[in-house]
Amino acid sequence: MQAVRYARATSVDQAVQMLRDGGEEARVLAGGTDVIVLARERRRDIDLFVDIKHIPDVMGITYDASDGLTVGAATPLYQVYGHPDVQAHYPALVAASHVIGGTAIQGRASLGGNLANASPAADSIPAMIVLDGVARIAGPGGRREVPIAEFCTGPGRSVLEPGEFIVTLHFPAPAANSGSAWERFIPRNEMDIAVVNAAAVITLDGDVVQDARLALGAAAPTPLLLTDAAQALVGRRLDDVSIEAASAAASAAAQPITDMRGSIQQRKHLAGVLTARVVRAAAARARNEG
Ligand SMILES: Cc1cc2nc3c(=O)[nH]c(=O)nc-3n(C[C@H](O)[C@H](O)[C@H](O)COP(=O)(O)OP(=O)(O)OC[C@H]3O[C@@H](n4cnc5c(N)ncnc54)[C@H](O)[C@@H]3O)c2cc1C
Repeated sequence: MQAVRYARATSVDQAVQMLRDGGEEARVLAGGTDVIVLARERRRDIDLFVDIKHIPDVMGITYDASDGLTVGAATPLYQVYGHPDVQAHYPALVAASHVIGGTAIQGRASLGGNLANASPAADSIPAMIVLDGVARIAGPGGRREVPIAEFCTGPGRSVLEPGEFIVTLHFPAPAANSGSAWERFIPRNEMDIAVVNAAAVITLDGDVVQDARLALGAAAPTPLLLTDAAQALVGRRLDDVSIEAASAAASAAAQPITDMRGSIQQRKHLAGVLTARVVRAAAARARNEG
């Protein structure tokens, strides 16, 4: 492990200052479950960790029925999936955060770290995309908001500019008659990286899909918001025919690679299968059956 300086920020402005002063070799430290592994393996030149976990805005969860959910970017995952309002209103987020690593990892790892790490296979990102999440960012130029669907720009790359960090993640309150779901395929039962993961939010008007947001992970260089697959559902009865159309559109949109976890062909197949599953599960929740 390389020698790394450590600084503890206690306010957003102080963290921005520390990151700016630290230059290109300064890194935000949240749970450390990704970045300490990188530092130990010397896969990144890191000179300074700026610990953001002592900034009050960055830790904790608030929910309001009209404004929605705000999650501090460094809040540990066990607090996310254990929160009663997250459990009641954002089941896709519960499912995704509950499988990241194991219990020990979930005691440290955060949604902000999962997003900023920008892995194409990150488990929480498709869930945060379909929930219409927004990253609230602070930096030397002030504050700005970026839709999570637009946050990742390539494997390990994001819209974050030097000195910027994610303060909170915000999710609107769910629409009436809507439900969300998330699933992944891994070759064993736990502690593995997704071969493909998928998430859906479905809003129903009777049997007809009023709105749909679908997303895939590990199926392209960045997590994908699936617009064509969603369009295959909106305005149509939710039945085997429309779900099959969405599933085929998801397979077509996937642009995966072949690696040790799976082939292009397997990933395209999984993209369709998982899309159909999350659509059915989200719709069941929209009908209060889930
Ligand atoms: C054993 C093990 C199993 C794992 N299993 C999974 C899994 O199943 N699914 C999965 O998706 N991931 C998995 N991971 C990866 C990791 O746990 C997650 O990506 C986790 O969410 C990272 O959060 P963190 O708070 O630990 O991030 P850190 O390690 O603290 O940070 C990760 C990166 O994001 C930056 N960063 C962190 N917070 C912010 C912020 N608020 N603003 C800007 N930049 C920030 C850091 O500088 C760093 O570059 C696993 C890791 C391990 C070690």
